[in-house]
Amino acid sequence: MAKVSVDVSSCVGCGLCEQFCPEIFEVGGDGIAHVKAQVCALHNIEEAAQQCPVNAIKAA
Ligand code: SF4
Repeated sequence: MAKVSVDVSSCVGCGLCEQFCPEIFEVGGDGIAHVKAQVCALHNIEEAAQQCPVNAIKAA
């Protein structure tokens, strides 16, 4: 299974990933998206990665 991570040096905190899948992504008080779960039954992580404007989400 793919391992999800967010490149904290690239993330701009736009919140798109959290909107797409709040089960996995959460933008913290630091303005950066954090991964809070590796699995979501509803959303495709690779699709979330494609939506990130700065390509900070890795699913590898
Ligand atoms: S979509 Fe990308 S830039 Fe936006 S909050 Fe998520 S990881 Fe950060």
